[in-house]
Amino acid sequence: MAWVPLVGGIAALLLTRELVLRIRRKLIDANDEDEVDYRFLSVAAREAEVAIRNKEGGPFGAVIVKDGEIIAQAHNEVLKTKDPTAHAEILAIQKACKNLGKIELSDCVIYCSCEPCPMSFAAMYLARLPRLVYGAQAEAAHDLGFDSSHIADAIRGTSTFQKSNCTVRRIVHPEVAKVFWKNRTKVQIY
Ligand SMILES: [Zn+2]
Repeated sequence: MAWVPLVGGIAALLLTRELVLRIRRKLIDANDEDEVDYRFLSVAAREAEVAIRNKEGGPFGAVIVKDGEIIAQAHNEVLKTKDPTAHAEILAIQKACKNLGKIELSDCVIYCSCEPCPMSFAAMYLARLPRLVYGAQAEAAHDLGFDSSHIADAIRGTSTFQKSNCTVRRIVHPEVAKVFWKNRTKVQIY
């Protein structure tokens, strides 16, 4: 029966190896997600920049991604369209639904330059978006003078009555910070 400890030893070795591989895979996935989130948030930041440069609206951009591909991207067009509801998130959701030919985006992720206002968050809720990644906090928009930027606390998960199933992640992103800081004197408040 000398082979019993040998088999046991091999089994233990294989198990340890499997465990190490699994942990490594998990770490790689986590890093990939960080990198992907960061990259798409950069696109949202660039959209926000376009809104300011073209004087179309506030420094707000949104990107909707499905399976690693951009389905729709938009920036705030409140000034351009004279429509107070033309927020980046709303426009991106409308475009994404049109492009995918459906009314729910449960297989997508939305990236926003700024923490969304309650109207935009409600649109995400209605579109069944399961995940939101944003850069600047609502306070950054409020500091610029956008009074609509006070957030329904449902978004931060602190509300009593209205809970959301949407996973929310905030990333401190230099491009987003730049859009808000650099353009603070150029922004036209509406
Ligand atoms: Zn909004």
